[in-house]
Amino acid sequence: MRTFITEPERRTPVIAETDILVIGGGSAGLAAAVAASRAGARAMLVERYGSLGGLATNGLIILLLTLDDGRGKQVIAGLCQEMVDRLSARKACLFPPKEEWGSPDAVLVEKYQRLGLVWGSGPHVVRYSVAYDPEEFKCEADLMVTEAGVDLRFHRWATGVVKDGDRITHVVFESKAGREAIACSAVIDCTGDADIAVLAGEPVESERVHPWLWFRTANVDEDAAETSKLRPGYYKTTGEHGYLHPWGAAERIEHDIDAANPDDLTYAEVECRRLVRAEVDRLRGKAPGFERAYLAGFAATLGITETRRLVGKHMLTREEMDQPRPDAVAITGNWTKYGSTYEIPWASLIPQGTTNLAVAGRCISADHRAHHATKEIPSCFATGEAAGLGAALALQHGVTHQGLDVESLAGSAPPAPTCRREWGTHCRGRLPACGSRLRARRRTEAGP
Ligand SMILES: Cc1cc2nc3c(=O)[nH]c(=O)nc-3n(C[C@H](O)[C@H](O)[C@H](O)COP(=O)(O)OP(=O)(O)OC[C@H]3O[C@@H](n4cnc5c(N)ncnc54)[C@H](O)[C@@H]3O)c2cc1C
Repeated sequence: MRTFITEPERRTPVIAETDILVIGGGSAGLAAAVAASRAGARAMLVERYGSLGGLATNGLIILLLTLDDGRGKQVIAGLCQEMVDRLSARKACLFPPKEEWGSPDAVLVEKYQRLGLVWGSGPHVVRYSVAYDPEEFKCEADLMVTEAGVDLRFHRWATGVVKDGDRITHVVFESKAGREAIACSAVIDCTGDADIAVLAGEPVESERVHPWLWFRTANVDEDAAETSKLRPGYYKTTGEHGYLHPWGAAERIEHDIDAANPDDLTYAEVECRRLVRAEVDRLRGKAPGFERAYLAGFAATLGITETRRLVGKHMLTREEMDQPRPDAVAITGNWTKYGSTYEIPWASLIPQGTTNLAVAGRCISADHRAHHATKEIPSCFATGEAAGLGAALALQHGVTHQGLDVESLAGSAPPAPTCRREWGTHCRGRLPACGSRLRARRRTEAGP
């Protein structure tokens, strides 16, 4: 067998042109595209599947952990809060009321633990975290993106970039329509796996992980299930007579995987499904309330915490926890720690070399331990929103991403023409942040 082939040179059609091209429609990508578009840029969002949310919908990771700092104070609002408001209006989410955030009341803590909203080691307090319906999330995400005027393109897989010096001029996509290029002024990599950063030649850190496959059961006798000793293994979410099972393959699967390798993913998909079905059979036989339960659905995508993270201008480390910084563009709490926050600098969203690329979501430049907090869905909304605004500001000011003076721009710029909300002052010292400290569009009603 030949070990490689040489493909003939070919011409690739350029099918569209945009200011800011966001790739990957997870929580980071949808926030980046909406923020860029509301800031006045032409924004396009390209996603390989047919729905938005990424792990937050198709991975069945349907718990926003967390919007607070673990002391009862909201630190993430902005587009994440807007999503909660939208889901709330549809009666499609559950969360503690504001007056309960930070409460150490054991009864309340246990109530929210049952929803999967309190994690980590105690002593616990009630967190501002949210359980939601993933199908409603998908619909609201469609609306948020289209109402903001984002050009949404599903079913295209980014496979290449064309560069002119240190700038990306085009991204190449594969789909059933063939190979196509989209021209752009700036790119935001929200693929979760830093695909675009890798294609652009930027350094990344890779991780092998144990795969997860969250699943849902239905037709459960809730009274019996709630009082069962097996109780901590599953969570009541928004539906009736059903549970969410945060099932992981650690200690069950033979080896961890490189989730950027399709053969490793194939192995994990088949093996996790086999093991999950066996787990449902076990629950039916052993767990009170599950006698007549059935497997209502596997997550459509494996739960992969990490594949590759950018090694950007600045790598956020655990040592920077609770360290205020003037160049922060987003802030996040920590779902397993109380009273701990990370201030995320613009330099952790941008690469070392490529001058018109930003990265947001779970693949930002953070070390493995800081990533534990920055990968959470609210944090991905926040870095996505910051990346969208930052890229729009860089274009507006005619500067590279590395040349964007975050400190002087924070709170200083006038409202963008397409912004539908009040532009507040930036959030430094006046939490909750909206996710982005760049000209933060703080919703005054969102914070304490
Ligand atoms: C097992 C597990 C449990 C977790 N638990 C929680 C929790 O309880 N609460 C919480 O808040 N967070 C949790 N997290 C973290 C959180 O779910 C993710 O880190 C977060 O959703 C990532 O968002 P993202 O937008 O960065 O990436 P993703 O959600 O991975 O989105 C990336 C998107 O990009 C698309 N894409 C990828 N490559 C390409 C390409 N080349 N071309 C086009 N499109 C592409 C994908 O299809 C996807 O839609 C958990 C994660 C895991 C794995």
